[in-house]
Amino acid sequence: MARIDLVDLAHSYGGASAATESYALKPMTMTWRQGGAYALLGPSGCGKTTLLNIISGIVTPSHGQVLFDGKDITPLSTRERNIAQVFQFPVIYDTMTVRENLAFPLKNRNLPRASIEARVTEIAKLLDLSPFLDRRAVRLSADAKQKISLGRGLVRSDVAAVLFDEPLTVIDPNLKWELRSKLKALHQALDLTMIYVTHDQTEALTFADTVVVMHDGRVVQSGTPEELFSRPAHTFVGYFIGSPGMNIVSAEVKGKRALIGGHAIGLDKAYDSLPLGAKIEIGVRPEFVSVAAPSPELLSAKIDRIDDLGRVRFARVRIGDVKFAARVPAGFSASESDAGLIFDPAHVHVYADSVLVEGRT
Ligand code: ATP
Repeated sequence: MARIDLVDLAHSYGGASAATESYALKPMTMTWRQGGAYALLGPSGCGKTTLLNIISGIVTPSHGQVLFDGKDITPLSTRERNIAQVFQFPVIYDTMTVRENLAFPLKNRNLPRASIEARVTEIAKLLDLSPFLDRRAVRLSADAKQKISLGRGLVRSDVAAVLFDEPLTVIDPNLKWELRSKLKALHQALDLTMIYVTHDQTEALTFADTVVVMHDGRVVQSGTPEELFSRPAHTFVGYFIGSPGMNIVSAEVKGKRALIGGHAIGLDKAYDSLPLGAKIEIGVRPEFVSVAAPSPELLSAKIDRIDDLGRVRFARVRIGDVKFAARVPAGFSASESDAGLIFDPAHVHVYADSVLVEGRT
């Protein structure tokens, strides 16, 4: 396994002379640590596959370098990079048994028979494939075939990294949650550098120690699931992660106050020097605003509806024309459509042109 450095990396499918704004991957520099579990998360078209294909060597970047353990591998072919890949659809040999399929990447490397057998047994056990080891793959379900594909990706212990491209797409929804947690356990057991591409936040947050959120060809935040939840570095992260996503509303911010439609909300930090001319917004997750009976001290809102999610209820409200979601505390009865909103100042963030601003304590 390897540490991966992306150095001034960018990619333009239109050639190196195209304008930066049109790049599929805008310039980025970052390091992924050896043995880490990373998820590349973002909506369709944000550049996840392009980045994964650059790391695997399928795409040569128009700018910058990829280093494995400090060595520039940008000009190397996929095979020379010594990586394993798992794709959306199973890549297995139907006519071989499960055991032969799992052993194949190791036989290719001429490993001794005893170590092949030991590793195949270990991987089969981790993926609950042991009972099927001597069955031909052709007779197995689509789920089992994809598990074999995962196993083939994980079986070599000497790879620089294992890259997964939406590997649970073909998996039955009921099995997905089980395999998601299993992949996390596999990462802990096998100590490999893993990079997992997905547009599904649950998959990313369950699997990864570090989630790299992409938007429009840029990495907008790279952090733990907790960091993405508690301090979204970009309004896109706030909106894309969490269900419902973070509320974002225009505000006038001065010192420790944010004015929304003329009503002041307290902030726990001071913001004295916001960039001139920038679009200023505040962001607050629905978990940290609650509805209450209307009162002159509270920002007023109209309740559209209340969603009962079992453990928690969220009110869908409007502040003027802006839609907002807020927690409904136990005992609150929404007999009227008018409500007041109570904000938790520690969780109200300020954004300038969509980027988080650090306040002064
Ligand atoms: P998806 O989840 O839909 O695969 P993605 O986040 O993986 O999306 P990419 O496939 O990396 O995104 O695409 C990023 C951008 O690059 C998109 O605008 C896409 O249209 C463009 N793109 C991707 N592959 C090519 C290509 N071979 N030639 C030209 N443009 C491409």
